[in-house]
Amino acid sequence: MNSQATPTDADCQVSHEAPVLAMHHIRHTYGQHQAVEDVSLYVEQGEVVCLLGPSGCGKTTLLRIVAGLEAVQEGGVDLGGRPIGRPGKPHVPPEKRNVGLAFQDSALFPHLSVLDNVAFGLESLPGKQRRARAMELLEQLGMQAYAKSYPHTLSGGQQQRVALARALAPAPSLMLLDEPFSSLDARLRDRIRDDTLHVLKRVGAGALLVTHDPEEAMFMADRIALMRDGQIVQMGTPLELYCAPRDPFVVTFFGEVNEMAGEVQGGQVKTPVGNVPVNDIADGSPVRVLIRPEALKVVTLDEPLAEHHSHVVMAKLLGRSSLVHICAHDADGWESHLHARVPGVFLPEEGQPVLIQLDPSQVFVFPAEGATAGA
Ligand code: ATP
Repeated sequence: MNSQATPTDADCQVSHEAPVLAMHHIRHTYGQHQAVEDVSLYVEQGEVVCLLGPSGCGKTTLLRIVAGLEAVQEGGVDLGGRPIGRPGKPHVPPEKRNVGLAFQDSALFPHLSVLDNVAFGLESLPGKQRRARAMELLEQLGMQAYAKSYPHTLSGGQQQRVALARALAPAPSLMLLDEPFSSLDARLRDRIRDDTLHVLKRVGAGALLVTHDPEEAMFMADRIALMRDGQIVQMGTPLELYCAPRDPFVVTFFGEVNEMAGEVQGGQVKTPVGNVPVNDIADGSPVRVLIRPEALKVVTLDEPLAEHHSHVVMAKLLGRSSLVHICAHDADGWESHLHARVPGVFLPEEGQPVLIQLDPSQVFVFPAEGATAGA
């Protein structure tokens, strides 16, 4: 199946093994407000799919519908090929869905030890096996030493690990995670999301994870559904979204860009740092040109070039990369202020003459707002 396409009902029916989750044409309103508008997606066994998007775009609503915390108003939800959510049909409650829930504020039971918290959902197993299974999950998340502790004695990150262990213990076929790392500080967040990714892959559960952080989505996801205003704007692998974005919103959501207006002439558009080929937009069309800072290669020069001369305005070290502010001129005297991101420490002096080379794979050209594409 083309990973970029949203599945049709037929797609889901013909697959050899039903996806662990399939959502078909979901719509959801709160009063007059349309929170989700015709969303279809699927999650395969062992696959991590991220719902990514700005605040209020409908990510949590979708997750709550899958969890059974919101009734399906329009469309359908299938778990493992079994229809469990249809408007007007009896509601299957969250605890009967075999899904694991890990939310940002997943509260542990304060009166139970860590081990008993994790064993809580395993009442179908005999006592010894329950404890063994709970301990196994605690070990996977590096929390075995805290089995006898009580939640109030744990840090936020430790509590989050226990909550994940508790959600994973009954071996759900699908994990639903809503911003599970957002209350943690940056260093702890990196560690816990790394652990979570490895545990999810080891246990082979499908996962639907909500985040508004594009880096987190790229770190965790096999596929990303980028949402805006209740709809999926683009669905695909991190590589597809980053390197073949469907519209300017997708480009800018993944980070800062240099943006300029232009016009297509002879199958290309002129920018102060060189011409960019344009394939599918007619000559004479106004366009938006988006250049990622890492598309600009900065070469220092002893002397400014006679034409196309550019110089450094300032340079800042950001840690893993340096951000270089550049004043670029083209032969017609068109001047623009651009940001270039260069790996490692690269801190040229103010006024340093430079040559800018463009990596066309990180430059994106779209019809200007209101204009139509097509040659
Ligand atoms: P965030 O990242 O801020 O959590 P989100 O993408 O998860 O946002 P949702 O929480 O799904 O978005 O909300 C989608 C829209 O529906 C928002 O405009 C929100 O204000 C609205 N909404 C969500 N829950 C309710 C509710 N219970 N009653 C009324 N409106 C709601």
